[in-house]
This record gives sequence, structure tokens and C-alpha cells, in this order.
Amino acid sequence: MSELILGKTVSESIYAELKERIEALKSKGTTPGLAVVLVGNDPASEVYVRMKGKKCEELGMHSVTITLPEDTAEKDLLKKVSELNNDKNIHGFLVQLPLPSGIDEKTVINAIDPKKDVDCFHPVNVGKMLIGEPEFLPATPAGVQQMLIRSGIETKGKHIVVVGRSNIVGKPMAAMMMQKGDGADSTVTVVHSRTKDLPSITRLADILIVAMGKPNFVTAEMVKDGAVVIDVGTNRVDDPSSAKGSKLVGDVDFEGVKDKVSAISPVPGGVGPMTICMLMANTVSAAEKAVSR
Ligand code: NDP
Repeated sequence: MSELILGKTVSESIYAELKERIEALKSKGTTPGLAVVLVGNDPASEVYVRMKGKKCEELGMHSVTITLPEDTAEKDLLKKVSELNNDKNIHGFLVQLPLPSGIDEKTVINAIDPKKDVDCFHPVNVGKMLIGEPEFLPATPAGVQQMLIRSGIETKGKHIVVVGRSNIVGKPMAAMMMQKGDGADSTVTVVHSRTKDLPSITRLADILIVAMGKPNFVTAEMVKDGAVVIDVGTNRVDDPSSAKGSKLVGDVDFEGVKDKVSAISPVPGGVGPMTICMLMANTVSAAEKAVSR
């Protein structure tokens, strides 16, 4: 059986470090503050926003949740963004995506002060990350990188294949792993839906990072013996045997792959807890930078 890379364990070690940094900030009179703006009542977004607020409270951070109705005009949301840009008690904030139709996501993201953009979605922050001078790292790829680092998995000189090229996961993941330095220095290949003969490329991966949104897509034949597999995919599928009638599965056929690889992250319990953890880390960093400015 391969090693299991568990986001819960990795995130706990990061939270322990964050608590110390938060205490240090508080002793200097600053409580790191995170605001989350939720527009409308998308049930999945409501769950994420609640989880973020709860985690802030657990860590002793200042947490603000702003809920706006589904029919909020773009200009009113932009006004709220401007208020948060100028709020001294808020060191980082995000506008929960997706936004209702009628509001342009890009316009909203571009209005966020890059110094408070803890999701790392603002083009300035994406560019800084790409040139290796990050203000913040995007939460999910940063979480995957921490899972590799804290599991002692060498990335230097390793061939990483990233499946997926979204702006939220695949693209920044690839950009981060090709940077110079510890936890990176990898040779990176990115594959996507237009890639020809995808299995012939995924089989070359020393480390395979999968972010497709396709349940159980990656099977044992697509993976090299002894590879490390990180499954970002989170897919809800029917499961008549469970009380809920559904269950979460990843993009990787975990049962088929687990005995072939040296390490693998399961779903659930793998990457899942890391995104909020890295969001908290970005907020603490934002507060530290604000204090030192
Ligand atoms: P997107 O749908 O934005 O991107 C999916 C990517 O996978 C695209 O680049 C797409 O290619 C590629 N793809 C889709 N089908 C295939 C295929 N048959 N062969 C090769 N490539 C394919 O998804 P996200 O990146 O936002 O998310 C990916 C998964 O990760 C989802 O399951 C999501 O729920 C999960 N996720 C989990 C998080 C967490 O655990 N904390 C956080 C964020 C996401 P193309 O560009 O050509 O269309």
C-alpha cells in the first residue's frame, strides 16, 4: 500500500504555525482580518463561506461575512469592494465565485486591492507569481505544493504532469512548480482536453497532479509505477448505498491506482482541507505585510 498524503494532517501542521504568527501579530496590536463577500444564495458557496468564517474564529482571527442579495447591481458590489480596500481591520478579502449573471467577475476581481487579494486572482498577483515574486500564492495550488513539501517528496528535477489548465488550479500549479527554489524546480508538462494521447504523457510523470473535474478518469494504466499522485478533483456522484444518495470522488480511480504508486492523496481527505488553510495563511501574510509597511 502506498503512502497516503492527507490534507488534514498537513493543514494541522500549518495551522499550528499560523496560530503562533497570529499571536505574534496580536501582541503588536493587530488581529488579522478576513472578509468574505457572498452575493446570492448558491448553496455550495454558502457552505464554503461558513467554513471560512468558522476557521477564522478557531484561529482567533477577525472575520467578516458580507451577504448581498442575488439581484445586487455590479456598482453596489464594487462599492463594497472599495470599502473593504479601505478598511484597516481587513487585511485580506475575497468575493466568493461564481457571481450571479449580470455581474462581471473580471471587473470585480480587478477592483480588489492586490495587497488584499488573498485568493490571488488579481492579474497583478497572477503576474507576480509567474515571474517568481509572489505577493500571494493561489490557495489550492499552494496547498498541493505544501502537501508535497511537508510529505518530504522531492520535486527538484522531477517531471510533474499537471492535468487541467484552469486559471484557478492547473495553470498556476504548473507556473509554481516550474519556479526556481525548494518545493519547485520541476520539469512541468500541462495536458488538457485537446491533448493527443493523454495516457502516454501522464505515464511519464514522476508526480501527477490531476485537476479535471472528471470522476475516476485517471486509471492505473495512465500512471507510472511508483509515481506520486495528487488528486485535486472533487466530484459528487450518485451512491445509492449511502444515506445521502451520493458521495465525493476524485478525478483518479483511487482503488485502481493506490497499489501502483508510492504516494497518493485520497478524495475526500486529500487536497480538500488545504484550500481554506492556504487562504488563512495568505491572510496572516497580508496582515504581517500591512504591519511592516
Ligand atoms: P475546470 O473545469 O475549470 O478545468 C478542468 C480542466 O480539466 C480543463 O483545463 C480541461 O481542459 C481539463 N479536462 C477536462 N476534461 C478533460 C479530459 N477528458 N482530458 C484532459 N483534460 C480534461 O476545473 P477546475 O480546475 O476549477 O477544477 C478541477 C477539479 O478540481 C474539479 O473537480 C474541482 O471541483 C476541483 N477543485 C478542488 C478544490 C479543492 O479541493 N480545494 C479547489 C478547486 C477545484 P480544457 O481547458 O481543454 O477544457
